[in-house]
Amino acid sequence: MTNDDLNQRDLSVLWHPCTQMKDHEWLPLVPIKRGHGVWLYDFDGNRYIDAISSWWVNLFGHANPRINQALKQQLDELEHVILAGFSHKPVVELSERLVEITPEPLRRCFYADNGSSAVEVALKMSYHYWKNQGKPHKRHFITLSQSYHGETLGTLGVGDVALYKETYRPLLMEAITVPSPDCFNRESGESWEEYSRRQFQHMESALERHHADTAAVIVEPLVQCAAGMRMYHPVYLELLREACDRYGVHLIADEIAVGFGRTGTMFACEQAQIAPDFLCLSKGITAGYLPLAAVLTSEEVYQAFYDDYDTLRAFLHSHSYTGNPLACRAALATLDIFKQDQIISRNRQTADAMAKAVEHLADHPHVGEIRQTGMILAMEMVKDKATREPYPWQERRGLRVYQHALTREALLRPLGNVVYFMPPYVISEEQVKHLALVAEEGINLATAD
Ligand SMILES: *Cc1c(COP(=O)(O)O)cnc(C)c1O
Repeated sequence: MTNDDLNQRDLSVLWHPCTQMKDHEWLPLVPIKRGHGVWLYDFDGNRYIDAISSWWVNLFGHANPRINQALKQQLDELEHVILAGFSHKPVVELSERLVEITPEPLRRCFYADNGSSAVEVALKMSYHYWKNQGKPHKRHFITLSQSYHGETLGTLGVGDVALYKETYRPLLMEAITVPSPDCFNRESGESWEEYSRRQFQHMESALERHHADTAAVIVEPLVQCAAGMRMYHPVYLELLREACDRYGVHLIADEIAVGFGRTGTMFACEQAQIAPDFLCLSKGITAGYLPLAAVLTSEEVYQAFYDDYDTLRAFLHSHSYTGNPLACRAALATLDIFKQDQIISRNRQTADAMAKAVEHLADHPHVGEIRQTGMILAMEMVKDKATREPYPWQERRGLRVYQHALTREALLRPLGNVVYFMPPYVISEEQVKHLALVAEEGINLATAD
């Protein structure tokens, strides 16, 4: 079988995610036969470094022997069981360990099976909490510009990436949107911290005006990934936690992309030494193996739902695959690897290697900024370096980087004009150097005219 064979069959029956299918008249799909470590292998014998962790989910490489082993064992014991009225060992163990590694006062785990659903759970729980407290008017949500929380109607409502949202706007609930602390927009000479503090004024005024009718503020801590790896300083989260407490509004931390070590700490919130009222986790939770999501919350929130059945205060939300045992087992194996291999401290070296490998590109005439938070590094291509004028999106310059990278053994998938690395943690320094070289060639090609 060749790439072509599979592509023809694919294109006659599939509809791919986040894709204008007509592109595939000239842009070949890449069918993958197997994966090993950071490598993906196609049917024609080509290989690619998975520099984007297969959409930000993979942590410890493809076909990881330890996770494979754990799953094989679990497979022979229990593949799935209903989680209402029933329970199982992997989900209990995972909940204990998530409670242990997340900040106080997060003590309760509710499960879903994908990130968007986790965000939906957090939004519903927050609203329902206030309703159970006799405050049903607290039904609004405050969100940051450029934020991304998923693709369902509820999560698009609290998101702000126009490309995904605009078409469906008539169907969506309206959120209160506050300008992002995205430090790309800081003045020259201004630090990330100063800018993030300055941008907090907008949040403070929104809370001041709307707190009485607001259930929660929802943010992606430290990095707004989908909008193009937009980064800000932890001080923003400190100020936000303090303000949410002061105004009696929940804080929802969507760590679906940034959790599990991406920002340099296990969870991004740790860098601000804060705990949210709701913590949404998914993506890396199973190291990229199986769909799973968790929402952690406090005992106080939990208790607001705990009552006699006929009071109708219970949270009657479920998904068929909630707390799937195989997925929970993969998550447990993932947490074992974090511990045994001291991943968080080892990642510091890899993050330094990433920074060094692209350092010289800061002087590139069409690189507006190189920014990094832990294991996420982004290079923003701009038309004019001085004014930071962006390339029009219609020119699809990022796509040229993607196409070039494929010819050079790398999977880079720029977000618009933003070329980024978000690799599996098992990537070597040599492989990082190769990615930097490929990215440089790609950026040169994409910005040549
Ligand atoms: C990916 C992502 C989601 C949505 O998760 P899905 O599993 O794709 O539904 C939500 N929030 C953030 C920050 C994400 O990166």
